[in-house]
Amino acid sequence: MARIVMKFGGTSMAGSERIRRVAGIVKRQQEAGHEVAVVVSAMAGETDRLVNFCREANALYDPAEYDVVVASGEQVTSGLLALTLQAMGCKARSWLGWQMPIKTDDAHAKARIEDIDSGALLASMAAGEIAVIPGFQGLSPQGRVTTLGRGGSDTSAVAVAAAVKADRCDIYTDVDGVYTTDPRIVAKARKLPLVTYEEMLELASVGSKVLQTRSVSLAMKEGVRVQVLSSFIDETAPAADTLPGTMIVSDEELEGSDMERQLITGIAADKNEAKVTLTRVPDRPGAVASIFAPLAEANINVDMIIQNVAKDKGETDVTFTVPQSDLARALAMLEERKEAIGFYRLISNDNVAKISVVGVGMRSHAGVASTMFKTLADRAINIQAISTSEIKVSVLIDADETELAVRVLHTAYGLDAAA
Ligand code: ADP
Ligand code: ASP
Ligand code: MG
Repeated sequence: MARIVMKFGGTSMAGSERIRRVAGIVKRQQEAGHEVAVVVSAMAGETDRLVNFCREANALYDPAEYDVVVASGEQVTSGLLALTLQAMGCKARSWLGWQMPIKTDDAHAKARIEDIDSGALLASMAAGEIAVIPGFQGLSPQGRVTTLGRGGSDTSAVAVAAAVKADRCDIYTDVDGVYTTDPRIVAKARKLPLVTYEEMLELASVGSKVLQTRSVSLAMKEGVRVQVLSSFIDETAPAADTLPGTMIVSDEELEGSDMERQLITGIAADKNEAKVTLTRVPDRPGAVASIFAPLAEANINVDMIIQNVAKDKGETDVTFTVPQSDLARALAMLEERKEAIGFYRLISNDNVAKISVVGVGMRSHAGVASTMFKTLADRAINIQAISTSEIKVSVLIDADETELAVRVLHTAYGLDAAA
């Protein structure tokens, strides 16, 4: 017997028919003798719909009230899955974020889980009851509902798995594993049987939305065994226990396997960033700090940063990227401080995409970045910004060229599946 946490994403939960299929998969895991807890997302498209309502109500919305609205999608699906399981003769009970409780900090709309009280949950699982937990939501120290940021149900699942010391956390989604790039963009993408935590962390953080970044860092920290696999299966599909999906593993586990290590593990695209440029910023100590300090205080993550060399007038242009969802707030904040910072114009562009190549092989091989620049140049794709880390190179390009860029890079690094 094992203790398994299963998570089902939005596409898997979209409508009664699909919820019945999910219930069937859950029931089979229980019948295999496991103790199970299930974490669910809102139905596909529902969170977007709710976010739009918030924007229409108030463009500069209060994140605490936004959380009240967007957390509702998962409440619906958790109740529906519990009902469906009961209709199939299973014992099932939903556990909302405040009931467990899943305690978070008070950073509304991007809260971090601090603690999960798992006592009652463990007792109910041990009694053969299937626990159904809405993902994405938690409870702030002030007793208000919080959400964990888009895609946060993955993190809920890993956190529950860590709290109940699960043997495995199975993340069921609409693809059957982690691929070398988004298989919906590149038909020749290859499925990876194993990916290391570190590579998955980097892939997620640069836009492979198959797993939320925080879920991967939490899994790495807590040593949770995570598998990504498909929920679009029938009874004849191999059981989850045979590991048909992609396992996220440690470096040592990968070294010990017979999988050949490639220079590049994967390529990711992120269209959710926006570029901001401040022109003619005074070139003096403290100028850059006066731009980024207020953004940091407002919890706005700045990613790529470029500061041009000052021209003769002692002025310089500063360009950086922020998440599109924070763009309106960032612009309002900078405009307010225009005099204090001393810039001339504020320009923004949200039609950009960040393309990243990731692989631990980069540590020991030169030339990854130059291959990237040359491949894009050959297609006349212009690079607007560059950033690098030890195992990643990212470039910012026009969003309209995303698919072309990912496809040509996938081929250039030899990642295409054999025809
Ligand atoms: P869920 O609703 O189940 O959480 P998501 O839409 O958040 O599902 O994540 C699954 C999607 O992630 C896939 O449909 C796929 O388009 C996308 N994706 C992006 N990069 C990758 C990748 N490298 N491997 C697999 N899927 C990827
Ligand atoms: N429903 C939330 C979202 O769409 C959380 C999730 O699906 O993981 O972002
Ligand atoms: Mg997701």
